[in-house]
Amino acid sequence: MALLGATGSIGQQTLDVLRKEPDAVSLVSIAGGRRVDDLIAIAREFRVPRVGVRNAADASVIARELPGVEVVVGDEGLSDLASNADVVVNAVLGFAGLPVTLAALTSGRRLALANKESLIAAAPLVDRARAVSGAGEIVPVDSEHCAIYQSLAGSTHETGYPDVRRLLVTASGGPFRGKTREELEHVTKQDALQHPTWSMGEKITIDSSTLMNKGLEVLEASALFGISVERVEVVVHPQSVVHSMVEYVDGSTIAQLSMPDMRLPIAYALGRPVRFDHAWGSIDFSTALTLTFEPPDREAFPALDLAYAAGRRGGAAPAWLSAANEIAVASFLAEEIRWCDIVPVVEGVLTDYVDDPLDSLEALRDNDARARALARERIERLRT
Ligand code: NAD
Ligand code: MG
Repeated sequence: MALLGATGSIGQQTLDVLRKEPDAVSLVSIAGGRRVDDLIAIAREFRVPRVGVRNAADASVIARELPGVEVVVGDEGLSDLASNADVVVNAVLGFAGLPVTLAALTSGRRLALANKESLIAAAPLVDRARAVSGAGEIVPVDSEHCAIYQSLAGSTHETGYPDVRRLLVTASGGPFRGKTREELEHVTKQDALQHPTWSMGEKITIDSSTLMNKGLEVLEASALFGISVERVEVVVHPQSVVHSMVEYVDGSTIAQLSMPDMRLPIAYALGRPVRFDHAWGSIDFSTALTLTFEPPDREAFPALDLAYAAGRRGGAAPAWLSAANEIAVASFLAEEIRWCDIVPVVEGVLTDYVDDPLDSLEALRDNDARARALARERIERLRT
């Protein structure tokens, strides 16, 4: 297995799974961005022969510390590692995970996909890569999509799913569930980083507070399962026990339930079709457990409808949404803009979008760069 994004939240939880399954999986490579000491420690613990890192200066530090280990650099390094393992875990953050997604699919590897941004932005290119015979398969790590993947076993179809009425993606609602638009004008970074049910990296935690994460997950579900966004709905479920559901045309709804623990979908994606014999997040039904469901507040959390609009428009619109959001969230985390500016920045950027069918990697990179530049311009205007 290759674990790319090894030093992050998903990366660390994947290592937890490996510690429980030392005989089932061996780690042939890891990669990370900047946390060189952590990468070195992981390479030592798991005796990893190949390590990837973002820049050349860090690569020479790693090479010095780990004699005999091969060190690769940058996007090319990521593509190389993703092409050379049976299972590739893409736990890189954001658009930077694109080389991993494309290389794993074109090399016929299993892609255990946590990195939703690459799939959303590159959906037309990913579709093309998956259609080639011998292409790799995607097994989702994102908990909602792993739940849908498992619940789709009730369908008699492999694609298109005509017997499925809709996919129901559950959302915890984040830390600001129940707040009005006015109340949300004054929330702080500390407030936004307090997720009620999941402990995750900072970017996705902020995305959960705006519901942009759920919007991105609607696009992710549509891209993964080849189902239009019209057949994907969001249900707020604050306990995060029902991880998502599939409703069939006969009215049956099939769901996957477990206590919130990402190690379960990670282990599932590594082992499938085998289930590892170690339970993460099993439910204790000997005490009372209440599960509630409610519709999302689309007024207070406009990111959701923005994502649907981008999904209906298709082409490069989801790439623009995701790129502008990455810039806006980074700027909020750097305390340059307010929480309530994040989604308006993304919305503003999308007003400049001109339809592009996204037929090449070059076109995708151009669109990504353009959306980022426009987001930076809008942020600059807000700050002056
Ligand atoms: P994180 O910020 O904790 O970790 C990101 C990882 O990516 C780190 O190892 C970092 O070093 C690496 N990275 C960043 N840029 C890189 C680059 N250019 N080259 C190589 N490595 C690079 O993020 P996270 O919360 O673990 O999330 C990772 C992905 O998984 C995201 O796409 C997120 O949406 C998705 N996801 C996370 C969770 C969760 O529980 N944390 C749940 C579902 C989906
Ligand atoms: Mg999720």
